[in-house]
Amino acid sequence: MNQLDYLRISLIDRCNFRCQYCMPEGAELDYILKQQLLTDAELLTLIQEVFIPLGFTRFRLTGGEPLLRLRVTDLVRAIASLPQIEDLSMTTNGFLLAPMAQNLYDAGLRRINISLDSLDPDTFDQIIGNHGRSRWQQVWHGIQAAYNVGFDPLKLNVVVIPGINDHEVLDLAALTIDKQWHVRFIEFMPIGNWHLFGDRGWVTSAELRQRIRECWGLTESQVRGAGPADVFRIPGALGTLGFISQMSECFCDRCNRMRLSADGWLRPCLLNETGQIDLKTALRSGVSTAQLQTQVRKLLAIKPEINYKQRDSGITGTYTRTMSQIGG
Ligand code: SAM
Ligand code: SF4
Repeated sequence: MNQLDYLRISLIDRCNFRCQYCMPEGAELDYILKQQLLTDAELLTLIQEVFIPLGFTRFRLTGGEPLLRLRVTDLVRAIASLPQIEDLSMTTNGFLLAPMAQNLYDAGLRRINISLDSLDPDTFDQIIGNHGRSRWQQVWHGIQAAYNVGFDPLKLNVVVIPGINDHEVLDLAALTIDKQWHVRFIEFMPIGNWHLFGDRGWVTSAELRQRIRECWGLTESQVRGAGPADVFRIPGALGTLGFISQMSECFCDRCNRMRLSADGWLRPCLLNETGQIDLKTALRSGVSTAQLQTQVRKLLAIKPEINYKQRDSGITGTYTRTMSQIGG
């Protein structure tokens, strides 16, 4: 087991998209009430007085859609200014990014992952839920803005759904050829809208690599913050291709991340809730940060066991909590 130094923090469980694989239109979700969200001050206390002393140095802000969080730039600035932070990144759908990119960069954010499942505006709108007007263009502007501002690495996340966007894999991979963009293909998981998963299943990373290899060839490569992704490059390309294969090549026993939900639950695993701790309630009821450290340390100690169990049971169930609720 690697050193546990990486925390993914969900800033909010709400979202301005309704991706079919995550929180589809009509899904009944119990949103977190405003007063139940961790405040900025509580989040900073947890980062500074609980996680950093335990050796956490890498933090990713996610959601839901993190850019919907009020005063998110101020929060980024406050986290980025903590001297022990080695890496602060964000995962966003990019819709609100264009006018915020420069401010986020100036606040200290340096790495960003933007979800982009399709280059075709109609397919994109079909995936993210039709809001009556196309959203692709605005996301594309967000990606360009982040690139021009200097986010590096800039990664584009693609969830591959059979029969919906898998025919675009070569076009998406081609984005890495003359731009230093890093495209990551994520195997579709039966989390959230597992009805859709049940109908379609997933395309394996091995199959995607094969298609790309036949077209251009592929060499192994590296990129900062690759985490569970296997990284390759089209020969001569400026950017890289990552493959996240949690369905076909379970990496649970290598998992070195923890997740903090927007209402303060600390979870050792995306897929099961064993051992999770309600840090917000503890903090609000006056438990000291030293005591919280002790609780978190105990959870860290049992994480390998939880991961091994998850590895052995496989990703076979259906998981009704969505990525937006857990903090994907
Ligand atoms: N809203 C932001 C976004 O979409 O980038 C951040 C949160 S989203 C939950 C984080 C990542 O989870 C996205 O890249 C999304 O594509 C991925 N995701 C959500 N549901 C998924 C599923 N069922 N299978 C695989 N990836 C999923
Ligand atoms: Fe929103 Fe991201 Fe989930 Fe899509 S994947 S619905 S953008 S939280």
